[in-house]
Amino acid sequence: MAYSYDDQNIFAKILRGEIPNNTVLETEHTLAFRDIAPKAPEHVLVIPKGAYVSFDHFCNAASDAEILDFHRTAGRICTALGVEPGEGGDGYRAITNAGENGVQEVPHFHLHILAGRPLGPMVV
Ligand code: IMP
Repeated sequence: MAYSYDDQNIFAKILRGEIPNNTVLETEHTLAFRDIAPKAPEHVLVIPKGAYVSFDHFCNAASDAEILDFHRTAGRICTALGVEPGEGGDGYRAITNAGENGVQEVPHFHLHILAGRPLGPMVV
């Protein structure tokens, strides 16, 4: 499948330093920053630096190093937020939206990490 990446999307602009962001963690392949319109007391977006449209695009096309770095960074964000249920935290939700049916607003793959309040059952 040929994925078409829009390099004018807002996260591409953040990655190029054209607009500011509230960075939580940055690594070689990954950037994590606070959502501008948080839906929970803690709302962090984790994005790869590479030009990937969606979760499936990232999983299918990214290098092993990018995929490993992305997941390690997401884990470190949970640790930094103190929300790991196995470590005494109250838990979190990690979700990604893809495409029209997933109601994805920004066409650069991102993982939402939401925490800090009971999030209720997942509504679809
Ligand atoms: P999506 O619906 O899964 O694509 O979520 C996109 C998210 O990006 C939303 O939660 C927005 O609030 C967030 N967002 C949009 N623009 C910015 C920004 O400039 N900085 C941080 N978050 C943003």
